[in-house]
Amino acid sequence: MSAEPGMSLDSCVAVVTGGTSGIGLATVRLLLTCGSRVALCGRSEERVQAVVEELAESASRDRVLGLACDVLSKTQVESFAQAVTSRFGDTDVLINNAGQSRVSTFESTTDEAWREELDLKFFSIIYPVRAFLPHLERSPRASIVCVNSLLAVQPEPHMVATSAARAGVLNLAKSLAVELAPKRIRVNSVLLGTLDSGQWRRRFKERAPTDVSFEAWLDQLAREKRIPLGRFGHPEEAAQAIVYLASPLSSYTTGAALDVSGGVARHI
Ligand code: NDP
Repeated sequence: MSAEPGMSLDSCVAVVTGGTSGIGLATVRLLLTCGSRVALCGRSEERVQAVVEELAESASRDRVLGLACDVLSKTQVESFAQAVTSRFGDTDVLINNAGQSRVSTFESTTDEAWREELDLKFFSIIYPVRAFLPHLERSPRASIVCVNSLLAVQPEPHMVATSAARAGVLNLAKSLAVELAPKRIRVNSVLLGTLDSGQWRRRFKERAPTDVSFEAWLDQLAREKRIPLGRFGHPEEAAQAIVYLASPLSSYTTGAALDVSGGVARHI
């Protein structure tokens, strides 16, 4: 993504939680292409190291930092923020992406599952925002992007807990946008439909017949789901929306939710 000087993410410091797979990894790659210095995390040390090695081959090793960090651990997130600051200085962009969805109806969701789901969706934003806030406050182009789902505004009965939790964090992002606006920190969300990332690869392994390819399975699902654009999205397409909201190209946009659902959203 090239842009006028002052509009780009060149040499800014970006943090991507859950940057070792799918949408997070595609976002890391795009940020590196834009010239950013990028810190990423995931829970698996092994996956973090593998991704850092892979990225170091194409991007400058100096511009990538990867650390194992569970965003649901306050102390790990604080240590991650300290490590990012000592390596790169203050953070300009925080992408809250880490997480996954839960497939369950109201009847099949236990109390424990409700707590886990609400905990994941809320604290995967609360802890990173708290830890990186002092650094974002010092940035002239600070931006937070929350990776959310269309389920936040269009719930599905087979994903009842995830849908409710996502509505809550969409609301949280709006409040953050207003509270942080005087500090010139923008906060926006992307509302994703279905994208062919790690989550769907895992579901493919669990559910699909063995004689069907991943691509053919997704094509069939896209037809069943009646996705107007006729296919699943690609992680790179989510990354483009995320990076737009992270960049000064969206400098007068805060508290917004950008639809990246291939036309599935029914509301006007
Ligand atoms: P992937 O499974 O491909 O990637 C998830 C990433 O998050 C991995 O890097 C994973 O690494 C990391 N992660 C998960 N939990 C934690 C945690 N507690 N702390 C730190 N890192 C964590 O999934 P997607 O790319 O599909 O998902 C990215 C985001 O987009 C998620 O929040 C998901 O809910 C959301 N989303 C995805 C949609 C889709 O269709 N793909 C639709 C709507 C929303 P590790 O396991 O090593 O921790």
